[in-house]
Amino acid sequence: MIRRSFFRRNKPEVDCREVGKVLQSYLDGDVDEDFTAKISAHLEACKDCGLEVETYRQIKTSLASKMPAVDPAALERLRRFGDELTAGD
Ligand SMILES: [Zn+2]
Repeated sequence: MIRRSFFRRNKPEVDCREVGKVLQSYLDGDVDEDFTAKISAHLEACKDCGLEVETYRQIKTSLASKMPAVDPAALERLRRFGDELTAGD
């Protein structure tokens, strides 16, 4: 017999998908303390999510200060990548 609650109760942290789902709310301070602690722990342990939260933070900060959302060089790289994709038929 499988007790479904077993896994949920014993899961020490949230996983990447969960973090991704609540990342914006987390940054807005819209999640409860318990969940915030779990997300923070995950972000410190997980490089991918840590990077993602950094990007979100940068966008939020730049929106607030009306500065370019991302590094222009990074934007240029993205644009060129897009051009290459659409260049040849
Ligand atoms: Zn993660």
